[in-house]
Amino acid sequence: LEATGSVEQKMNTLLQKVLERDPHQTEFLQAFEEVLHSLKPVFEKDERYLSVMETIVEPERVITFRVPWIDDKGIQRINRGFRVQFSSALGPYKGGLRLHPTVNLGIIKFLGFEQIFKNSLTGLAMGGGKGGSDFDPKGKSDNEILQFCTSFMTSLYRYIGANMDVPAESHFVFINPFPKPKFAGDIGVGGREIGYLYGQYKRLTGQFEGVLTGKQNSWGGSLIRPEATGYGAVYFAEFWCNDNNVSIKGARCIVSGSGNVAQYTVEKLIQLGAIPLTLSDSSGYVLEPQGFTQDKLEKVMYLKNVKRGRISEYLKESPTAKFFAGKKPYDVKGITIAFPSATQNEIDGADAKVLAANGCKLVVEGANMPSTKEAIEVYAKTGIILCPGKAANAGGVAVSGLEMAQNSMRTSWTREEVDAKLKDIMRNIYTECKEASAAYGAPGNIQHGANIAGFLKVADAVIDQGC
Ligand code: GLU
Repeated sequence: LEATGSVEQKMNTLLQKVLERDPHQTEFLQAFEEVLHSLKPVFEKDERYLSVMETIVEPERVITFRVPWIDDKGIQRINRGFRVQFSSALGPYKGGLRLHPTVNLGIIKFLGFEQIFKNSLTGLAMGGGKGGSDFDPKGKSDNEILQFCTSFMTSLYRYIGANMDVPAESHFVFINPFPKPKFAGDIGVGGREIGYLYGQYKRLTGQFEGVLTGKQNSWGGSLIRPEATGYGAVYFAEFWCNDNNVSIKGARCIVSGSGNVAQYTVEKLIQLGAIPLTLSDSSGYVLEPQGFTQDKLEKVMYLKNVKRGRISEYLKESPTAKFFAGKKPYDVKGITIAFPSATQNEIDGADAKVLAANGCKLVVEGANMPSTKEAIEVYAKTGIILCPGKAANAGGVAVSGLEMAQNSMRTSWTREEVDAKLKDIMRNIYTECKEASAAYGAPGNIQHGANIAGFLKVADAVIDQGC
């Protein structure tokens, strides 16, 4: 970085440079600015880290490709495929695949950028990457999903491998938490997709290797992977609570979203005696005034994972539930913890003010970057502690890392073993964030601590390796 002047000016120069390079990638720029801002004390101690940041913010490789497939009417369809191999400083690129109509390069780059620091925090040997497509699996037949996945992998396979780049399915929902035989055999969206992707990889390369995570248990998947993100987020909250004299038992919590992160957040909260009050989707939110019970949660799981219905339909399942059409769950009164687990930028400045007014002490991000820049400013002003996604939701990719380890060893660990390792990893992440925040003049600021601790490990590896 050639800029002269104060650290602040040099940070602005770098921000400007990144912005001018890709002005339309708003989510990516937002994620970068957030991390950059936290790292100011690091740059003040040693300005060389600013140049390292300039290296890290440029992906090592960006792959975009055409995904042609034939729909059930015999018509040729076309989607865009992406894989951003962001950083291999700490290990093979690792990160999920997002299949959603809103996907574009800016979104994949924001997710990949976050993934670098998240993976670093887990302490496992994983670099950062992310991929996906603007393909919408919603409403597609099994055959159409197969067509798409086969074509996607036909383009992607030459760039991935167990020691090179290990994608995962980020939207998978397994049905195996339902021990009831009548649901056995129903395969959720992601289980189905990861299977098709894996099958095509195998046909093209002849390799049966740990090249994807989120696999089914019988062919190399890890137990606890579906639960890992939600359980991990609650463990993280529990560590913070224990450290700050807040009781998680009896804590009233709001959870947004109703996918696998939200579902297993609620499950773990119930197990710890907390009171999860809400779940949501884009149609609105449901409130259980006394909190969800395991029975009620299983009704939501059936509705979302098997029937693929709207959260509003849950009203038919529970006489105590209330539904608020078109609303987000943040206006529930008297809460201690919020677990935003839906999507990026779901909490804006106004929502954050409502959260603060309702007593929220802690925001634990199950989703990636669910808080806008304005929301984060409100947290800072009102004393809400932010546990950012790259720390709080790292349990998902951490168990993916454990899946890779099991594949390498050709073994599989029990639920108890994986869960204990997950909990240890989340404890370490909490400690790393806390210690880094204290070492860099912001004690207790988990957000800054996460960025600093995640960054330093990657930056030092870049320095060591000279690239
Ligand atoms: N998509 C998840 C994340 O945001 C996990 C990715 C993975 O398991 O590789 O961290």
